[in-house]
Amino acid sequence: MSHVDTEVRPSNFIRSIIDEDLASGKHSAVHTRFPPEPNGFLHIGHAKSICLNFGIAQDYQGQCNLRFDDTNPEKEDIDYVHSIQNDVQWLGFQWSGDIRYSSNYFDQLHQYAVELITKGLAYVCFLNAEQTREYRGTLKEPGKNSPYRDTTPEENLALFEKMRNGEFKEGECALRAKIDMASPFMCMRDPIIYRVRFAHHHQTGDKWCIYPMYDFTHCISDAIENISHSLCTLEFQDNRRLYDWVLDHLDDFQSPSRTRQYEFSRLNLEYTLMSKRKLNDLVAHNIVSGWDDARMPTIAGFRRRGYTAASIREFCKRIGVTKQENMIEVAMLDACIREELNEHAPRAMAVINPVKVVIENYPENQVETVQAPIHPSNEDMGKRPLSFGRELYIDADDFREEANKKFKRLVQGKEVRLRNAYVIKAERCDKDADGNVTTIYCTYDDETLGKNPSDGRKVKGVIHWVEATTAKPAEFRLYERLFNDANPAAAESVDEVLNPQSLTVKHGFVEAGLVNAEVEKAYQFEREGYFCADNKDSTKDHLVFNLTVPLRDTFA
Ligand code: ATP
Ligand code: MG
Repeated sequence: MSHVDTEVRPSNFIRSIIDEDLASGKHSAVHTRFPPEPNGFLHIGHAKSICLNFGIAQDYQGQCNLRFDDTNPEKEDIDYVHSIQNDVQWLGFQWSGDIRYSSNYFDQLHQYAVELITKGLAYVCFLNAEQTREYRGTLKEPGKNSPYRDTTPEENLALFEKMRNGEFKEGECALRAKIDMASPFMCMRDPIIYRVRFAHHHQTGDKWCIYPMYDFTHCISDAIENISHSLCTLEFQDNRRLYDWVLDHLDDFQSPSRTRQYEFSRLNLEYTLMSKRKLNDLVAHNIVSGWDDARMPTIAGFRRRGYTAASIREFCKRIGVTKQENMIEVAMLDACIREELNEHAPRAMAVINPVKVVIENYPENQVETVQAPIHPSNEDMGKRPLSFGRELYIDADDFREEANKKFKRLVQGKEVRLRNAYVIKAERCDKDADGNVTTIYCTYDDETLGKNPSDGRKVKGVIHWVEATTAKPAEFRLYERLFNDANPAAAESVDEVLNPQSLTVKHGFVEAGLVNAEVEKAYQFEREGYFCADNKDSTKDHLVFNLTVPLRDTFA
């Protein structure tokens, strides 16, 4: 499983249904859609749905629409519309034709509501929110009919027209489907299908002051777009009755190949919040720097952190598509990116906790260039030049004045190999008033350049370094998971489960070539982890590197 393979896709129950529908002739083509509500950035759960919907369309030579489900104007924003398009394309998918909006169909949806009223299947109800709740009943008790349920179609047409003309206040009345107040499915107890909202809409402006509800809109939008298989998550299982009921009662949608809804389980990831509402709270309360904070489980966050689209697609492939609710381990996602980067990421050296090394027997003012492989096992990636000189930085953790044999790094009086360069020996060190080492004085052996660690010398340790006069200062953002609790969604408040160490900022140095590091493209900083230049804050004068993923699964 070590390389990303997008050709072979495992089958799943949805593919089996599609295969049957094509074999029986019920459908001659596959047409799916991805229907995000533009009320936040897409997260890794959406990636599952995107890979499923667009992936199926690709594999069956069908089509997949991108449709914004935009029926809640107060919560939606055009910026989200743009970020969502961006993220879908970044994941490697292209929608069929133009972008669709449910709001494209507001005129038709209004007409279909009128059709239901005319057929005596919808009515304008004046119960207030509290009364509506009371009349709805409970899971154990049936509801009661609204006193407005038996008004005539003529009266209801007139009232609905008044709703549309802005003659009722928000919450004063709503249009409800007339279905069954005793249904075991709560969603069938005369659900609201239109409500009054004096809200400006990012697509339709101020044209409407009534907006259709999701359950009424979604099925009709699917049917208008000739969607063959409408794939959604399990929480809509009950609502499938309503999906079918609406279409069953509209004359335009009586074709036997009409759209059908199929449900699969949502992605739940350990240590991760997955609801846009909760993610929005993190942004609103400045717990993170924005929707694209590298700790967010958003597509934009993963991208900023250096995850690749291929690794996210691979993850979605590995988790599969079922009807079983489950919780996926973060390690599974990390493994996908780690495997890819181990194979493909260029290597580089960065010192995150720098301490100065002076090589006393190296000529003053001399800087030489040594060649280092870009990848240890892929020679085709070529070599990179590294400067070496009298003053270097190494990581403070790689030096001890005294240590036992297990410490295979630099110890006073002993030797260590500098990766891609010479063997050095630590002679003595300077310390500040607090006892912290400030400078390590070493000697080097000029016979040891370029020899591999099995050159006969008894030097076990290899450490990384950068040359002090050419290295570039850099900020390192070290990330840990945002939450300490495997199921943060269950916590009373996020404050209880936030990991105070989710971000640590360090200042150190990187080898000179990294001034040209492309943003979002991860390197393996040898012995440190995978890092990429930050796509917002990194500049040539102020390099900022984000930890993509540690070298090993440190939580296992
Ligand atoms: P959220 O609760 O995060 O706001 P949502 O379902 O309300 O999610 P939508 O924008 O309505 O978000 O979702 C668009 C599509 O993505 C829907 O078909 C939805 O079922 C799917 N989706 C959302 N979250 C997940 C998830 N965790 N796993 C799989 N699919 C998801
Ligand atoms: Mg939603």
